Amino acid sequence: MPNIEDIQIVDKVLDAAIKYEMERAVQEMCVLLTRNFCEHSPFRVYMLACKHKLKEEAKLAAKACLRVPIAGVFMPELASISGLEYFRLLDYQNKTSLAADAIMTLDSSGPKFWGLFHTRSSCGPQGMSKWWSQFISLALPILRKCPRSNAFFEPALLYPTLDCVAQCQQCRNESVIKDWTLLERLLKQEIHLRTENIELDLSGF
Ligand SMILES: [Zn+2]
Repeated sequence: MPNIEDIQIVDKVLDAAIKYEMERAVQEMCVLLTRNFCEHSPFRVYMLACKHKLKEEAKLAAKACLRVPIAGVFMPELASISGLEYFRLLDYQNKTSLAADAIMTLDSSGPKFWGLFHTRSSCGPQGMSKWWSQFISLALPILRKCPRSNAFFEPALLYPTLDCVAQCQQCRNESVIKDWTLLERLLKQEIHLRTENIELDLSGF
């Protein structure tokens, strides 16, 4: 199988392979689409999968799209999909975001493990520690846009949070940094658990 690194070539090969019913070539292009492009260009893979009516690839790409913003992003390939296909992707992302959003609440709908982190010191608002409310305030907008984003534990979010820890005597003694990998693991698990059964609507695809 050739290793094509330009998604437009995959598109052209798919055009021909489907037209001339070259089953094997279609399958090889499907493998390439998910293997080479889904991680970095999931939105483009979704649009290509819709254009060529590739159901499984559309599903995989839609799932990968949960890591990146979609709404308001322009791509030339948008011209090749229907309004319904675009709507379904946004709807899927929206439903997943809503399910993940509830994770950040501190009431009974939030995950049980929150208690491990947020109330150890009470230097912030509502009896929470300051670093915790800082983390939530930065993580929530990301979660609402990209429910499976990897950005929750990247420097832009980590540094301001750790800065809160550094500025507070009480929190410095709580060894938050040691817990950070545990928080990352538990949060990812929880997001996965609450969103994995949400399906992209592909009826009539
Ligand atoms: Zn504190």
